[in-house]
Amino acid sequence: MIVPGSSRQLRPIMRRPRGLAKPPVALRPRAVPPGVAPGQQTMRRRSRRVIELRQATKVYDTGTIHVPALRGITLVVERGDFVAIMGSSGSGKSTLMNIIGCLDVPTSGEYLIDGVDAAGMDEDELSDLRNRKIGFIFQSFNLVPRTTALANVELPLAYAGLPRDERRRRAAHALAQVGMGDRMNHAPSELSGGQQQRVAVARAIVTNPILILADEPTGNLDSRSTTEVLAIFHRLHDEGRTVVLITHEPDVADQARRVIRLADGQVVADDERAPFTPAATATTPAPRATPHTGAQQA
Ligand code: ADP
Ligand code: MG
Repeated sequence: MIVPGSSRQLRPIMRRPRGLAKPPVALRPRAVPPGVAPGQQTMRRRSRRVIELRQATKVYDTGTIHVPALRGITLVVERGDFVAIMGSSGSGKSTLMNIIGCLDVPTSGEYLIDGVDAAGMDEDELSDLRNRKIGFIFQSFNLVPRTTALANVELPLAYAGLPRDERRRRAAHALAQVGMGDRMNHAPSELSGGQQQRVAVARAIVTNPILILADEPTGNLDSRSTTEVLAIFHRLHDEGRTVVLITHEPDVADQARRVIRLADGQVVADDERAPFTPAATATTPAPRATPHTGAQQA
């Protein structure tokens, strides 16, 4: 399937979707039937396959150059998995991340996120999809400068149209989860790299996304901060979240449950490190220590 407009520029990662009359569905409180843990209900409603790529290709075509960056990627990531994507520079990692993150579309092939085909969506629908389903973490943190950690973490909730009090409460809670509860009013320049990345992780999880997508999240961190941030990823995974991280560091990839290797735009290895019970079939989901992931979760 050829996607029209596949050569368009990358989309901004977060922006307020225009023309959305109501807050996105995922952020609306949802009644949970008696006897059903909120997480379980969520898992039934959502697709088990968080990521499904079918023969996805990406060709960068600028008129003068023609670069086949992805050459037929077929890949399924199920809910609750913890995947590292590795590969040397130029192997197509960032291109793949952009497609998985709905920041770009494949030139051909298909991509379904949480069972939804992103191909037919317009810009607003895609930005809404990104806001609701994906928490992004970058090597360079991408925090808004001269703005407190709390305001940075509130931002995606503001885009989602949540009232201020609820934004505050949920952002403060997310910051506490990453051990930054005592630094909420600090600006990024007043924080270490590791602390900034923890704020970025809080921002990524505050919307309770289906997928946490991190591109070289430890690339700018010293070894101690790397350990701290990886410990947070482990905890998120233990809570049943789906984590995909891109890295070229073998030590970091070793932390993941599954390691996918790219070379020259193709998957050349896909190794499972430990037995995996997909969250959708797990009888008891891992307990979540988060009040906001309860009734608000969709
Ligand atoms: P990685 O993240 O693994 O280093 P990338 O996905 O950035 O790899 O790049 C894969 C290939 O696509 C490389 O050959 C790179 O030069 C090329 N490429 C990436 N982005 C563009 C672009 N916007 N225009 C043209 N070529 C690109
Ligand atoms: Mg890259």
